[in-house]
Amino acid sequence: MLSKYHKWREGEEVAKYSIGILQGDDIGLEVVPVAVKVLQEAVDRYPGVKIDWLDLPIGYPSYLECGETMPQRTLDALYDLDGWFLGPIGHMAYPRDDPKAMNPHPFLRREFDLVSNIRPTKSFSSLPCLHQSVDLVIIRENNEGFQPDRNMFRGTAEYMPTPDLAMSVRVITRRNSEFAARTAFELARQRNSLKKVTAIHKNTVFKLGCGLFIDTCQEVAKEYPDIEFETMVVDTFAMALVMRPQKYDVVVSTNMFGDILTDEAAGLVGGLGMAPGLCVGPRYVMAQATHGSAPDIAGRHIANPYAMIMSGQMMLSWLGNKKGDGEAIQAARDIELGVGKVLDELAAVTPDLGGKASTGEMGEAVCAAMRNLPPGAGSIY
Ligand code: NAD
Repeated sequence: MLSKYHKWREGEEVAKYSIGILQGDDIGLEVVPVAVKVLQEAVDRYPGVKIDWLDLPIGYPSYLECGETMPQRTLDALYDLDGWFLGPIGHMAYPRDDPKAMNPHPFLRREFDLVSNIRPTKSFSSLPCLHQSVDLVIIRENNEGFQPDRNMFRGTAEYMPTPDLAMSVRVITRRNSEFAARTAFELARQRNSLKKVTAIHKNTVFKLGCGLFIDTCQEVAKEYPDIEFETMVVDTFAMALVMRPQKYDVVVSTNMFGDILTDEAAGLVGGLGMAPGLCVGPRYVMAQATHGSAPDIAGRHIANPYAMIMSGQMMLSWLGNKKGDGEAIQAARDIELGVGKVLDELAAVTPDLGGKASTGEMGEAVCAAMRNLPPGAGSIY
């Protein structure tokens, strides 16, 4: 099934990129279509880049429609795609006792081996951020650590031997630590920034778990002599991030620490609406913003689409790099420029950023800003 966003070009039967649209819950129904529209607008500027979009059911709307939050037909379709948008999942509102109302996003991260979660934090001087000149990326290992919903092959890593005793098992593997570390060093090499990787741990206490993580990062660091490498204890880093975030470039962390630190970082630059994310593994990629489904503002069309738009931008850039497709990379660059222009001028921004624009109006302003760019503007070559 091709969605309404698909644009057919004469004489071409196979699109270069097949991308799924999984809207999720609550504000996902508002921000994901806007992000898709912006991506389509960007690639329309480059005749060599084509996207086949595929709408797929997920989350509570899917539960109401077909009785499952993670239907098999969605899963089957994802294996054949290049990547997909996953909107925020409001699983805390799902029925508790129905196994068909599972939380799909940890499952997807695990099923598709999406080991690294890349979460950038960037300040804009036009916005009332706690800090200016912030430009860092946190790589969070995505599938193990303390998260019991994904760190076991079967069973759960949380259990209660007695009604008054709960236990949680933390899992760290060399394989996933190495993948996350490599993602961090490769990114540090690509970025035009401090060329530094900071690895976060608490090996003062978790001598084996964090010890294995840090030892693995240190091993990977030897392959990147051009990148400065440092390690920091998580509590010290949490404080330093609030006081001097400008000191950091690429940060790599185990799962739970990364989950907390990325929300903290988002708070420095305007909140969760400003926190995009990309989940990547050896084969698949999933654009998933850091924020949740925000039921408190859902249905009002005031959610900030920045996080989801930039998650899509990262996915396009990642796919372009993977396929050596300069036009896709340039289209991704155009999105960044268009978004930057809207934020710099505060032309049409949502209420969380102090504006009055709706989600759709902010997306439309990004499209308009891109239309005014000459193709290849701000070329990255
Ligand atoms: P949340 O991220 O949904 O919201 C926290 C606060 O940030 C709210 O005040 C919300 O209005 C605001 N916010 C979030 N995104 C915004 C945006 N794009 N624009 C403007 N404001 C935004 O966290 P929560 O309220 O703790 O969780 C709500 C639901 O989302 C829960 O079911 C939770 O489990 C789920 N959740 C899902 C994900 C995910 O899918 N990745 C992540 C976190 C939470």
